[in-house]
Amino acid sequence: IWISNNSIGIIENNHLVRMWGTQVDISEKIKTDQVQQVLYSISNASLSSSDLPELIEIISRELGKLLDSTNFYIAFYDENTHMLSTLYEKDEKDVINCWPAEKSITGYVIKHQKSLLIHDTDMAKLCESGEIELLGTPSRVWLGVPLNMNRKVIGAIVVQSYDNPDAYTEKDQLMLEFISHQISISIERKKADQELKEALVRAQESDSLKSSFLANMSHEIRTPLNSIIGFSDLLLDPDFDIDQHNEFAKMISSSGNSLLAIINNIMDISKIEAGQIQLNKDVFPVKRLIAGIKNEYSIIAREKGIVLRIDPANPEEEIYLDSDEPKLKQILVNFVGNAIKFTEKGFIDLGIKIIQDNIQFEVKDTGIGIPEEYHKTIFERFRQVEDATTRKYGGNGLGLAISKSLVELLGGEIGMQSEKGKGSRFYFTVPCSEFEHLLQNRFRDTETPDTKFMHRRF
Ligand code: ADP
Repeated sequence: IWISNNSIGIIENNHLVRMWGTQVDISEKIKTDQVQQVLYSISNASLSSSDLPELIEIISRELGKLLDSTNFYIAFYDENTHMLSTLYEKDEKDVINCWPAEKSITGYVIKHQKSLLIHDTDMAKLCESGEIELLGTPSRVWLGVPLNMNRKVIGAIVVQSYDNPDAYTEKDQLMLEFISHQISISIERKKADQELKEALVRAQESDSLKSSFLANMSHEIRTPLNSIIGFSDLLLDPDFDIDQHNEFAKMISSSGNSLLAIINNIMDISKIEAGQIQLNKDVFPVKRLIAGIKNEYSIIAREKGIVLRIDPANPEEEIYLDSDEPKLKQILVNFVGNAIKFTEKGFIDLGIKIIQDNIQFEVKDTGIGIPEEYHKTIFERFRQVEDATTRKYGGNGLGLAISKSLVELLGGEIGMQSEKGKGSRFYFTVPCSEFEHLLQNRFRDTETPDTKFMHRRF
């Protein structure tokens, strides 16, 4: 115990003969001062720490001044997945970073929103009753306090001892409850701070993406425009060779089409962002769509020395789908256009597969591929693989973003696999389960070989 001593010496004949005074037990006051100091340090740490794990490490160190924090963790609760996870933990026996809240002792504290000081014997009883299941090495004494923020439990702070059953008392439990509020505030402040920083990085990134989009765009628009103006001037020149007129007209037409494609992309992305795209669904034969695209784009592919083919593994029978054919075509044409653009030699395969209740479309090429660091972001607006070799291909980075939005609108999922230098595979799915119903009703009376297949397949 701490005492405050206030005494005087009684001196007789120059000798100290007695002491007289009072001593007061100030242990409580010292503890309160220490708690105040720890609270102050934890509050400060939310500003001085660089990230959440560092803040939690400081909390653990500061708590060590008040009780045994040799084994310490703060578990965060995710109410969507019902999982608990730690960002920093200290433990003599086990390190478990992620575990289901249900049936865990930490989950028990979170569920009941009440702190718990429990010894091994009572813990065993809780296990026997089926309330909890043991995870990791059992401790002699376990103390957990829920962390609340705005009346919501965000997690729990836990200390435990594997060898000393008297490591924590009810006083420690009360003290930890008292501190837990400041801990929650500091953690929430740090989280908000991090979110703000991340938002700032995203905003700066999006700003620089937009700048490079504008620079690209001005190049992409100027090139065909200059070509249109230049060749029409030549057409108007009376001294020019009449034989070349055809050639010039072709250049003007192709540049006009490039411009139109850019304007269409911009219109599409604006409509998507304004939520103004509507679906027009109808039943159509999928293989006919694929064959049409192949015929349309084979010539351009051939001119580049690439073979555009229908995947030989495609199903033999025609498949009917109830979806928006023009939108599906737009996505596929975008994939095929990219595949032709980014492939110098080899082939491009157009494939379809039925996977459970979905039809999967895919375009596979043997082109330049996409480095792994771009895989996560390549479907975002304005994203392009940025290096000296790929920039020569032009483009505006909108095609894949438009395709992704369209696929989602159609109720499917989009994805890609690629390896730099080895080619790419872009794919998307479209659900076809509703269609089963529709077909069976619509074609019940008109049994053709195709519809027989439909009944079989779906
Ligand atoms: P754009 O092709 O107009 O730049 P997209 O959104 O269609 O815009 O594509 C974004 C980027 O993804 C391209 O610039 C390119 O870097 C990369 N990419 C797309 N498809 C392929 C492919 N088949 N092979 C290699 N890179 C591709």
